[in-house]
Amino acid sequence: MRRFPCLILIFLASILGFAQSQNSVERPPYKNPALPVEQRVQDLLGRMTLEEKVAMLSGADWMQSVPDERLGIPSIKMADGPLGIRSWSGPSAQTNAPSARVQVMTTSFPASVAMAATWDTELVHAQGQAIAQELKALGRDMILGPTVNINRTPLWGRNFEGYGEDPYLTSRLGVAYIKGVQGEGVIATVKHFAANNQEFERHRVNAKIGERALHEIYFPAFKAAVQEAGVWSVMSAYNKLNDLYCAENSFLLADVLRKQWGFKGFVVSDWGSTYSTADTVNAGMDLEMPGGDPMKVWLQTPRVQAAGNSGGWLTSEKVLAEISSGKISRATVDENISRILRVIFISGIFDKPHVASGEVDTPEQQALARKAATESVVLLKNMGELLPLNSLKIHSIVVIGPNAVAARTGGGGSSLVRPKYSITPLKGIQDRAGSQIQVSNVLGVSMEGEDQSKDTPAMREQLLNEAVGAAGKADVAILVVGRSSALESEGFDIKALDLPAGQDELIQAVARANKNTIVVVNAGGPVLMGKWITQVPAILHMWYGGQEGGNAIASILFGDANPSGKLPVSFVKQWEDSPAYGHYPGENLQVEYAEGIYVGYRYFDKRNVEPLFPFGYGLSYTKFSYSDLKVSPSKKTNESMEVSVRVRNTGPRAGAEVLQLYVHDGHSSVDRPIKELKGFHRVNLAPKETQTIRFTLDRSAFAYYSTAKKDWVVEPGQFEVLVGASSRDIRLKGPVNIGK
Ligand code: BGC
Repeated sequence: MRRFPCLILIFLASILGFAQSQNSVERPPYKNPALPVEQRVQDLLGRMTLEEKVAMLSGADWMQSVPDERLGIPSIKMADGPLGIRSWSGPSAQTNAPSARVQVMTTSFPASVAMAATWDTELVHAQGQAIAQELKALGRDMILGPTVNINRTPLWGRNFEGYGEDPYLTSRLGVAYIKGVQGEGVIATVKHFAANNQEFERHRVNAKIGERALHEIYFPAFKAAVQEAGVWSVMSAYNKLNDLYCAENSFLLADVLRKQWGFKGFVVSDWGSTYSTADTVNAGMDLEMPGGDPMKVWLQTPRVQAAGNSGGWLTSEKVLAEISSGKISRATVDENISRILRVIFISGIFDKPHVASGEVDTPEQQALARKAATESVVLLKNMGELLPLNSLKIHSIVVIGPNAVAARTGGGGSSLVRPKYSITPLKGIQDRAGSQIQVSNVLGVSMEGEDQSKDTPAMREQLLNEAVGAAGKADVAILVVGRSSALESEGFDIKALDLPAGQDELIQAVARANKNTIVVVNAGGPVLMGKWITQVPAILHMWYGGQEGGNAIASILFGDANPSGKLPVSFVKQWEDSPAYGHYPGENLQVEYAEGIYVGYRYFDKRNVEPLFPFGYGLSYTKFSYSDLKVSPSKKTNESMEVSVRVRNTGPRAGAEVLQLYVHDGHSSVDRPIKELKGFHRVNLAPKETQTIRFTLDRSAFAYYSTAKKDWVVEPGQFEVLVGASSRDIRLKGPVNIGK
């Protein structure tokens, strides 16, 4: 008996010893989450054969990287992005088709341009977080977003997917999105690096852009993504930049991204955008997508070939051959692979793979989508205070237009999400109007290209007459016009800035029949309004509002919510007024960004062109007054300063105002924009409430990029800070002295 405990002890000790030795056999350092990431990366790299490493340079299929079962390296499972999650089973033409075999249904958030119109970084952070949570619930690891390319021209087919024309606004929102995503242990991918500013010939076009414009306009959001948000992945763009394809552009990927900005994550190619083996690997393009059989099949399709996609350059066979020929070194392969491994460890997907479980499109996510859609609506015009609608006085409303009965949740292409449900503007208005107001509906005109039987001159006339008749009998006519995902999409640019066929005529005719006509524009960017703007008392822009767009517009129309969106892009009176006019879409596949740094409001200010509606513009049902601008005393160039201002809601309703701070440099030795956005603040104010808003300006707020010094430069002297309600509604100004 006495020997029994002793035996147990010996037995336990031997088990423990065995377990320990097993542990050191079974748990090499790279599997130990307690060790520093760099140690794990090096350890794992040391255990991989050359073949294993090379296999990871191109994808396994449409949206997964190659796993390594021997060593337990998981594949990275991706999904598009950025407005929600699209099915990862194939190209968008396939997954977006109504007949798609695999249907992944997720929350459809408003388009990024709508998110930008909220100027609400917390909201964008919450959107990133919600998307990441859905992604994890679906067992995926990486979202292909955000898109931070600048809206250079209002005709870019993908304007709806980016955050507008200003690099500062785009940077702030991109950072918020990425932090929201990565805070959940999901890999964010900032795209498309760089200068994917048009869809026309996107696979062949050479964007010729000066160094200063790159650093001041097209790079800042990528730089902020790297340095402020610590983004784990960057997607290279389809196009060429200054003569080199982005996927093999060592200026972009090696010099700027890694050397200058210190990027430590991996670069993934846009789908089908590689054109070489050695140059691509040597430039630091780490992961070619797609790969495997799906890539081979896809690249064979005539449509894809005609478009100019290219791929399959980083297959094992091709890379190994280039290693043998000495054009790619083993050290380079190690470097590229270590970047992918680093992200696999840092993001946590190595230690805790995402296993599909949990819900998607929860009530909280739906509420967030609705809040975002509501905040994004921009009130462009409100004469005679027709809005908000007075439910006590109005007995009948007719809702007209091709976008009233369809929920246009987003633009076309890889970002289009398939929601479980979506609310049309008509449904939103009907639900909100209740039984006391009669809501009727007529089409007025069908969406261009959607139904040929309705596109004949005779049918057009009949539909128009019906609309005019119905408008004449109703107290209020609400016209919901705009574009569709077939007219505004990735893959091609917008044909013209005019509304699609028949819509201008419809608005004019309805406005003649009913003086209480409200126009709601449902499109990803500006449309021309010259033909009817003076004839209608009220105009709203609702962008592509995601699945809750219909509820959002109804709550704005009826005043349950006060409009607070502000334009993230300038609206032009005519296409010829656009900064890129004359230099778009280029000739012989060369597009010269001749406007340089004068993009968006920077151009309208400098050239004295009156926009239809300026950048930052948006009305409210209440009024705000600004006062007491205070600038902290002159500081040294490397210290930040504080600007404060008081804002008061002087009207009868609660509302949100977006205060914008611009900086003017009056003494620069180089040509500079009249003003540049360097701060903004969204604030909710109850009636008669006043708040003091503080902005912090660091050195970067006063700097320009010097091509001579190849660096950012602040020239000491007097600057001016301008605080206002839009780029053309500056309410307060004050001098700032920047010392040496
Ligand atoms: C788009 C990317 C997208 C990728 C994968 C490309 O056509 O440009 O933004 O992430 O497809 O769907």
